[in-house]
Amino acid sequence: MRILVLSDLHSNATALDAVLSAAKGHWDLSVCLGDVVGYGPDPNEVTARLLEMGTQTIRGNHDKAVTGLMITDDFNPVAKAAVEWTRAQLKPEHLAWLSALPHGPLATDGVVLVHGALQDEDEYVFTPAQALDGLLDSTAEVTFFGHTHHQGGFSYQDSQLEVLQIRPRPSESFAALRIEEPRRYLLNPGSIGQPRDGDPRAAFAIADLDHQTVEFWRVPYDIVAVQERMRLAKLPEPLIQRLTVGR
Ligand code: ZN
Repeated sequence: MRILVLSDLHSNATALDAVLSAAKGHWDLSVCLGDVVGYGPDPNEVTARLLEMGTQTIRGNHDKAVTGLMITDDFNPVAKAAVEWTRAQLKPEHLAWLSALPHGPLATDGVVLVHGALQDEDEYVFTPAQALDGLLDSTAEVTFFGHTHHQGGFSYQDSQLEVLQIRPRPSESFAALRIEEPRRYLLNPGSIGQPRDGDPRAAFAIADLDHQTVEFWRVPYDIVAVQERMRLAKLPEPLIQRLTVGR
């Protein structure tokens, strides 16, 4: 069984469509690690795609902020403006679906899903020290996390923690990681809608645990078209600019 792993879509339907067309025929079921909305211009379109696909989705901090489940005092002014714009755009049925999303960690289909850290859905996992608890305490060998918008991850065996630099080169579509039991993995598919690891292409992963592989994908999409819709919507300029560089 092949699992399509989506994360941090951030209301970017053009990026999501590029991902779905690249992944077509390569997966059997789909999961999403949260931040369906926030930042981008297409909150209803992106929510509708996940509903159509029946994607098993957990909530992210932006989904919580938009639906009023979290106060936005900690958000910077730019993120806060996007939250308010998104809330005003969303159809009532989409707001209802987003506000009912379960929180991580969620065990499903042999893997565990979290948005941020295993112990705290809103915490970032950037460093090996931050990854250690998740690697040790998860109920599955392979745990997927998002929130940082950085593709890659960590693995652990015999008290050795390894940082996985597993991003495809600019000329490649994907890089494959071999899963070796009983090694444990904390893996980030990267962000579809707003990558921040220096590669502006949309990021996702496909896990085939029956064949012990996880593929980390990058696909180009029409960034300018998304930026034009963001300008029309009067979304904050820094959010528009960062899509070009993927930072
Ligand atoms: Zn995010």
